[in-house]
Amino acid sequence: MTLISQYDAIVIGVGGMGSATVYELARRGLRVLGIERYDIPHDLGSSHGVNRIIRLAYWEHPSYVPLLRRAYERWRELENRCGERLLFVTGSIDAGAPDSRAFSGSVRSCELHGLPHDVLDAAALNRRFPGYRLAPSMMAVHQADGGFVLSERAIVSYVDAAHALGAEVHAREAVREWTPSGSGFTVGTDRGEYRGARLVLTAGPWMSQLLPQLKPLARPERQVLLWAQPRRPELFRLGAFPVCNLQAPEGHFYGFPIFGIPGFKIGRYHHLHQQVEADRTDRQIHDEDEAVLRDGIRRYFPDADGPTMAMKTCLFTNSPDEHFILDRVDGVTIAAGFSGHGFKFCSVVGEILADLAVDGGTRWNLDLFRLSRFDS
Ligand SMILES: Cc1cc2nc3c(=O)[nH]c(=O)nc-3n(C[C@H](O)[C@H](O)[C@H](O)COP(=O)(O)OP(=O)(O)OC[C@H]3O[C@@H](n4cnc5c(N)ncnc54)[C@H](O)[C@@H]3O)c2cc1C
Repeated sequence: MTLISQYDAIVIGVGGMGSATVYELARRGLRVLGIERYDIPHDLGSSHGVNRIIRLAYWEHPSYVPLLRRAYERWRELENRCGERLLFVTGSIDAGAPDSRAFSGSVRSCELHGLPHDVLDAAALNRRFPGYRLAPSMMAVHQADGGFVLSERAIVSYVDAAHALGAEVHAREAVREWTPSGSGFTVGTDRGEYRGARLVLTAGPWMSQLLPQLKPLARPERQVLLWAQPRRPELFRLGAFPVCNLQAPEGHFYGFPIFGIPGFKIGRYHHLHQQVEADRTDRQIHDEDEAVLRDGIRRYFPDADGPTMAMKTCLFTNSPDEHFILDRVDGVTIAAGFSGHGFKFCSVVGEILADLAVDGGTRWNLDLFRLSRFDS
């Protein structure tokens, strides 16, 4: 007879959201197992490529701002626990045409939530941060609290912290199936079988393999990142260049100061609009991938237009309205559809998922994130 290990909670997928959730569950005193099919960390999912933007001036929707304040607090708590700096404050720029979502949504969030901010035209932005060269008609919001979080290091820190609290994490073990059993769940992997009183699914781009009803609601999309060695590196160093979102006619670009890889980092939301299967995405880099990102650099950051230092593919998982899915389905806690803007929230999402798994509810208003919003 096979001996089945018993846990208070099992978390499937130990990437950004899963690592934070394993830690938060362990912090509540539960016996936790996290199962990850690849390495910890790895570069096949959504959380690799050194860093992710964090910002309070949230153009996507003002109701994210309270969650963001909590996310900042929890990132700082993790840093204190691990003795490692994970969150770097650089300031953030959200720019575009005056009526663009990036600019007007960011102003709206700042005004509604009383966030100190400056509105700058293209010339004023260039005087203050000369790495930026926007079109004369564009406007920008500068918010001083923006910055970036080190994504792979954050996952490592969460797993370290969870280990210290007694959690068990298995990497290189793929979950094949999960089934309700008795008052809990049985999880079958390519190595064994486990029983958990609670189950949390945080499988990123692979979520619909574990919960097929999410197939139309959490759709993976191929993305590409590029790091270019600036011709004038002093304009793009940490301290001189705030992270940015730039909604331009050629696409919605985002950029980072030089950090970790010797180059200015740029990406374009919904890169080439390539919906993919997470297991069958093209991870090669092609000329067209580089061309669209170079175009953004040449137009808006011309002093960064030096040799390529690195390029990487990565996966978004988009929900239809690009808001997250945080909910419970038949007793299973799920997190999905982070739509290219989730990482900054890992620290608070971990807390929310632990609330949902342990208490069945949370003090946070999850109306924006409920699965039922897609019921027609
Ligand atoms: C190019 C790019 C840029 C981005 N920029 C930003 C940004 O600036 N700011 C921001 O806030 N967000 C950003 N995002 C979004 C953010 O990175 C994601 O929302 C976040 O990483 C999602 O985390 P996750 O835990 O859902 O996914 P992941 O970190 O991919 O974790 C899912 C994990 O589940 C594991 N798994 C899946 N199936 C199984 C299974 N059957 N068994 C075991 N394990 C399994 C996977 O291996 C994986 O490790 C960006 C994303 C990309 C791709």
